[in-house]
Amino acid sequence: MLYYFIVGVLGLAIGSFLNVVIDRIPNGKTIFIDRSKCDYCKEELRWYELVPVLSYVIQNGKCMRCEGKLSYQYPLVELLTAIILVTVVYFSPLVITLELIISIIFILTLIAVTIIDLKLLIIPDQLMYFLFFVFVLVSSITLGWDVFNSGFFGDVILQWAGPVVNHLVSASIAGGFFYALVLLTKGKGMGGGDVKLAYIMGLFLTGTQTLVAIYAAFIIGAVVGLVLLAMRRKKFGQVVPFGPFLSIGALLSLLWAQDLIDLYLTVFTVR
Ligand SMILES: [Zn+2]
Repeated sequence: MLYYFIVGVLGLAIGSFLNVVIDRIPNGKTIFIDRSKCDYCKEELRWYELVPVLSYVIQNGKCMRCEGKLSYQYPLVELLTAIILVTVVYFSPLVITLELIISIIFILTLIAVTIIDLKLLIIPDQLMYFLFFVFVLVSSITLGWDVFNSGFFGDVILQWAGPVVNHLVSASIAGGFFYALVLLTKGKGMGGGDVKLAYIMGLFLTGTQTLVAIYAAFIIGAVVGLVLLAMRRKKFGQVVPFGPFLSIGALLSLLWAQDLIDLYLTVFTVR
């Protein structure tokens, strides 16, 4: 219990950082150095105004000085991040592996992608480059580690190259599929951001997981689209960002790809 409590608190803190990423990355601002300011009075926030969720609740959702209304994005992203982090850790083996850390970095970045895409209908290139860099870095470290351990080059490279090539191939297929969709719909449905996100998903998920993630994204997207139409929140042909669906698909697939495949087969198998 204590372990999950600590992970949850860590999630709140990371969520707080993600809020900074969400607010600043699309504007091309730096996420480091300067402290967060109130959107209204531009005063720098003090440490006790930056406590995740608690500050928002205690201040009743308002700035302490100017009474300006704080966005509910802040506590929402903090809570969401905590819940997702605890869930991912809960469904993973109790050892901290490089694989787990990479998955967590991937999922946390997707939280920022989701919120930015919902707010602005864009998926920032910076976040996609960041994840690509993480993939290259981790692949290089793995190769270095393998060579260091065996002291022998030839076979090690071949063994290392297998999975890396697999990821590059499924990334290209996923990205290519979305690129084709962009061309077919003449950019009205999907955008370049979705193409890059699908490619990145191929790098971080296995081929099967990528397929499940994209399939799930389309099903969830269709259901949500129909609900929005029924509620008259959206008109037919209006833009609904697809990044959030891909992100949810990626999370579900990362956690339960095999269960989802089993469920799908159970439901759709004619006996
Ligand atoms: Zn203020």
